[in-house]
Amino acid sequence: MSGDAAGMIHPLCGNGMSMAIQSAQLASKLILNYQNGEIDSRKELEKQYLRQWNKKFGFRLKVGHFISMLFRKDRIATVLLQALKKLPFLLPIIIKQTHGKPMKL
Ligand SMILES: Cc1cc2nc3c(=O)[nH]c(=O)nc-3n(C[C@H](O)[C@H](O)[C@H](O)COP(=O)(O)OP(=O)(O)OC[C@H]3O[C@@H](n4cnc5c(N)ncnc54)[C@H](O)[C@@H]3O)c2cc1C
Repeated sequence: MSGDAAGMIHPLCGNGMSMAIQSAQLASKLILNYQNGEIDSRKELEKQYLRQWNKKFGFRLKVGHFISMLFRKDRIATVLLQALKKLPFLLPIIIKQTHGKPMKL
């Protein structure tokens, strides 16, 4: 699966469209390798896709779920928002954890 079907990032983090395009690119490249005979079997194709998908998106999805979990707790969310108001430089650092790097063709 790719895009949202493989894993949805919380709207708070954004970048779902980029993840859909990047995971489709991952799958396409591996499928081409499978068709060229560089990957021996469908099982190996799926294994490689899973490995690459987790490497690319696993961490940011975890961060996204963690942040959204914090913001679902009223008291923690209030404290966090106050902290972010006082320390605004933290916001881009947090957002960066939920975003990937620009795509390479
Ligand atoms: C309200 C909202 C706002 C968003 N804002 C942003 C944003 O600002 N920036 C951002 O990066 N991301 C945003 N996203 C997330 C982004 O839209 C998704 O992460 C992205 O579109 C996922 O792409 P996808 O191709 O995986 O799935 P989708 O775009 O959902 O495409 C799946 C397609 O498959 C079709 N389909 C489903 N079942 C079948 C079937 N059985 N047979 C045939 N076709 C089928 C659907 O009709 C759909 O066209 C937003 C999402 C929502 C809901």
